[in-house]
Amino acid sequence: MSEAKKLDRIQELEHRNFRDDEFWKKVPGWSSVTREEFGDHKWQLKNSIRKIEQVQKVLGELCTPELMSDLEAGQHRTPMNIRITPYIFALIDWKNPWDDPLRKQFLPLGSQFLDDHPYYQADSLGEDTDSPVPMLTHRYPDKVLFLPTTICPVYCSYCTRSRIIGGSTETVEKGTYGANQKKWDDVFEYLKSTPLVEDVVISGGDSYMLTPAQLKYIGENLLKIPHIRRIRYATKGIAIFPQKVLSDYEWFNALNEVHEFARGYGKQVVVHTHFSSPNEITKWSQLAMERLFKSGIIVRNQAVLQDGVNNDVETMVKLTRQLGYLNIQPYYVYMHDMVPGCEHFRTSLREGIELEKAVRGTTAGFNTPTFVCDLPGGGGKRHVASYEYYDEENGISVWKAPYVKPGEFFTYFDPIHKLSPEAQKRWADEGTREKMIQEAIKKVSDH
Ligand code: SF4
Repeated sequence: MSEAKKLDRIQELEHRNFRDDEFWKKVPGWSSVTREEFGDHKWQLKNSIRKIEQVQKVLGELCTPELMSDLEAGQHRTPMNIRITPYIFALIDWKNPWDDPLRKQFLPLGSQFLDDHPYYQADSLGEDTDSPVPMLTHRYPDKVLFLPTTICPVYCSYCTRSRIIGGSTETVEKGTYGANQKKWDDVFEYLKSTPLVEDVVISGGDSYMLTPAQLKYIGENLLKIPHIRRIRYATKGIAIFPQKVLSDYEWFNALNEVHEFARGYGKQVVVHTHFSSPNEITKWSQLAMERLFKSGIIVRNQAVLQDGVNNDVETMVKLTRQLGYLNIQPYYVYMHDMVPGCEHFRTSLREGIELEKAVRGTTAGFNTPTFVCDLPGGGGKRHVASYEYYDEENGISVWKAPYVKPGEFFTYFDPIHKLSPEAQKRWADEGTREKMIQEAIKKVSDH
């Protein structure tokens, strides 16, 4: 075998290497934290970073005055609070935080923000419009989205529900409700009287933040409804806080009990998680996944396509292979939603299509993620290449959702800063951009 081939082969196996070093010790404030302490979920929660002053405190000299002032500027723009587990914080390359994919996802800098797209919406997916009772979105006939909590173990800068998740920021006033158990019973009543529903996604917020009792209360009440066949607990937790699966025995046992309860009824409990970068994956992730797998709990992943985080072939292939290796099914990669404070993260639809093409064939089909665009305005998730019309020059795609919203047209827009200078000028004029959009829709409606 040639040397080049050997090197290729080594790189092909790279996804099986999980870092197991004491990486947190590079953070000056945690240099004496033991492996045992770092692996304790209580220590992780207690030492989570929730204010930029804490960034400075734990980083010491690694936090330069430039970084600090950029962080402060970020706080004037971001729609999300800061909350980062020490696990994720310590995985950031603090020698070059500006380019680090984890820093980008969880710690906003003022210098990164761009103006919001003219057609952004706080509730881009129309979840509130399709909500028959508070905390529930019912869009697809047999599936609902239940949001029992608005809190998470980390706050992601790219969150699609920045309108309700976490606390208020300088730019967004939120009516955050935490975990409001009293209102959950209304959701159960609605579901009891809606026999078409078979599938419930329990999201939020994050199921990691439900207490063991709440996790069981929700799971068992849903599973007792005869027509509910499947529930999915959505949590970013495995990606950003694997220590909880490994050391919060009460929480893990509660999840396992609901899983066993479901099996007794011939029903399914699955966990949906949210890795977006291979840098989030370590030996801790592998150990957490071994625990879940041995309990027979299926885990699927939903990543979000983000500029500078995972929008290159090498990263996406590595992420896909690593997830497969960990027994996590790489289920979806989402085009970034058109929500506030996220224009710098968004990619063009073309990038999504090309990435899917590149990833397909690199591993087994069932472990290949489907790249989807969740249509603004509530058309639901559509495969990235299933648009009806795509004006790439002006970054306008037109879509239909024949079953979910028959007869309606939906539009998704590429980020303006990625368009040609001429197209950017057209977008700058309100009348011209409206005309371009109407022309694109007409191309589809005339057919
Ligand atoms: S974990 Fe999910 S709901 Fe929570 S901030 Fe991140 S993306 Fe939003």
